Amino acid sequence: MTDMLYAPWREEFILGPKEEGCIFCQPGKRKGVREFILHKSRRAFVVMNRYPYNSGHLMVVPNRHLAQLEELSSAERNELMSLVALSSRVLNETIKPEGLNLGMNLGRAAGAGIAGHLHIHLVPRWVGDTNFMPVLFDTRVVSVDTIKLCRKLKAAFRKSA
Ligand SMILES: [Zn+2]
Repeated sequence: MTDMLYAPWREEFILGPKEEGCIFCQPGKRKGVREFILHKSRRAFVVMNRYPYNSGHLMVVPNRHLAQLEELSSAERNELMSLVALSSRVLNETIKPEGLNLGMNLGRAAGAGIAGHLHIHLVPRWVGDTNFMPVLFDTRVVSVDTIKLCRKLKAAFRKSA
């Protein structure tokens, strides 16, 4: 239990119950994803994790359904990294983490929950946060705090973008 954040981008809890098809394709039409989209750019978007590993756990996702980094165009790669940097800025300005984990799981064997559609995780960290994370993992519900934080982050993205 105490090692829950050892691999902070493990995906078993990330999207909750399994849904048909790819949850990242046409996210605007997906209930449970749509509400958590924080920012959209031309080729990619930022979405808040409904079942976060930590407060403010975000994912940066390309619009196209691609599994491998090398399939991305250079414009897509640039845009993904720009959104990672923007997300980092927004998190630093709003919830002020003491650290940030960035990670990708490419392929099922690497732990990808949505193996067909690559995405980058950003997990804000605080000193000592491993102590309370196991409690959060067991809740499996979208908490009021998650919804409040989502609103706050959306506003911050609007301001920063
Ligand atoms: Zn997809």
